[in-house]
Amino acid sequence: MGDLSEEMRMPTACPECGSHSVRLSEVKNPADKVFCSSCNTVRGIYADLKKELENKPKSETEQLLEEVVNKKGDAPEPSR
Ligand SMILES: [Zn+2]
Repeated sequence: MGDLSEEMRMPTACPECGSHSVRLSEVKNPADKVFCSSCNTVRGIYADLKKELENKPKSETEQLLEEVVNKKGDAPEPSR
């Protein structure tokens, strides 16, 4: 039997080792503990992790993309 776990990336880094990778059970029960995949520190339970993923601040890439979009929006209309 393989182990039923999968890895995910968290928006926050592990307080112990700075890794963003976490390991959690494939079953994904809300009460399942989520561990840091490099140092095995408990990062919290899946319910909290899910909340964190939903509330995560925009990544730098998304912020850059938004800036480009905003600049385009500021440009004067080509006609008129
Ligand atoms: Zn860690």
